[in-house]
Amino acid sequence: LRGTVAIVGRPNVGKSTVFNRLIGQRKSIVDDTPGVTRDRIYGEVEWLTQSFRLIDTGGIQLENQAFGDEINMQVDIAIEEADVIVFLTSAKEGVTSDDALIARKLQKAQKPVILAVNKSDNETLQMMQYDFYQLGLGDPMVLSGAHGIGIGDLLDKIMELL
Ligand code: GDP
Ligand code: MG
Repeated sequence: LRGTVAIVGRPNVGKSTVFNRLIGQRKSIVDDTPGVTRDRIYGEVEWLTQSFRLIDTGGIQLENQAFGDEINMQVDIAIEEADVIVFLTSAKEGVTSDDALIARKLQKAQKPVILAVNKSDNETLQMMQYDFYQLGLGDPMVLSGAHGIGIGDLLDKIMELL
């Protein structure tokens, strides 16, 4: 194993979808509690001759936790556990205030961050990538977990930084 990669991002940007794409499985629901389905949090990704551990921090939740506290905790876990952080955003919504808060936290961390703009399903949505330069995390990568766009490039970038 080369190292650990964590996916962070506000709810609904497509973290679970991208996680499933990366680990190469559609069905990622695992839980030992009967009648409960929960998103899988950990996976192993193989790419070329290498492999790494992947964490979907969106699946890490505590009961009765306020929305803002939850994202903060997830980003803290990513900063602590990961060698490389994939910060997922959405071309459909553009930059939101929660994205800006996460970006500020990630900028303070001494960890490599890959900014990826998910839901870049078509050329019009792909133009949204330029909006994301304002987050101050470098060049955004265009991604569509649903359509499988940019997954290979993302994996190459992860390997470069690991
Ligand atoms: P999470 O809350 O960040 O884990 O987001 P999910 O993976 O659960 O996805 C939230 C919603 O966005 C679901 O309805 C997904 O089908 C949808 N979604 C995820 N990736 C894409 C994408 O690349 N394009 C589009 N159009 N929808 C997506
Ligand atoms: Mg999820």
